[in-house]
Amino acid sequence: MATPAPHALLLHIASCDALIAHHEHHIATLTKQLQQQQTQLDAAEAEHATAPKKLIAMKKAIDDLELELRSIDEDLKHKHRQLSIITAEKQLRALEHEIAMLSRKKETLNDLQVDQWLAYETFQHEQISQNPLVDSQLEKLRVTVASLQQDIEQTQSLLATTQEEQQALVNLFDDHWAPIYKRMKIHMQDPVVIVQKDSCGGCFYPLQAQMLIKLRHNEVITCMLCNRLLVYTTPTISAPTTSQ
Ligand SMILES: [Zn+2]
Repeated sequence: MATPAPHALLLHIASCDALIAHHEHHIATLTKQLQQQQTQLDAAEAEHATAPKKLIAMKKAIDDLELELRSIDEDLKHKHRQLSIITAEKQLRALEHEIAMLSRKKETLNDLQVDQWLAYETFQHEQISQNPLVDSQLEKLRVTVASLQQDIEQTQSLLATTQEEQQALVNLFDDHWAPIYKRMKIHMQDPVVIVQKDSCGGCFYPLQAQMLIKLRHNEVITCMLCNRLLVYTTPTISAPTTSQ
């Protein structure tokens, strides 16, 4: 295989660098989106899972109240039986007072139980009517998460392919430029830049006339300021100016 001219090779490597940077940026963006969607999904699933637990807890509170009410009933029955036995006036009044207190407590607990039943039924009804909606929202989130994961995997595969392509190109470099390129690649994403308006395309440092001549003769040179490898592409022919 014929080795491409250095500048053509460098250009090719530079375009790989740009593509790699693009893929990496895309992966970073997708990963951020994935994290957000995953957090949303986790929260929705957790909330969805708490509803049955909440219903169980509500029912338990109602049952506990029922037990307490039954025990008050037993107590009241017992005290009513005592009422017919006791004859001492003072004890009788004390017992009547206790019965009145217990009856009031029973009324309060009864009201509370009715409220709790209503809340329980309302919540249960809400859950049943909201379930299809929640299910579809959860499904939508799961689909989004799965598709983002797929996108990331595909982009990672594209990135790997581009990196392999670039490696193959770098291997075409001679012994002089290959280590230079590899060293620079550690510190910067774009070690190869195109000359723009007679300046380095990376740091925009103006190039000396001598360097421009070398570049035009297909020599590989580096920027004096940032050390990037410079690539020269055929300039577009500018129309003669009328100002002169
Ligand atoms: Zn430069």
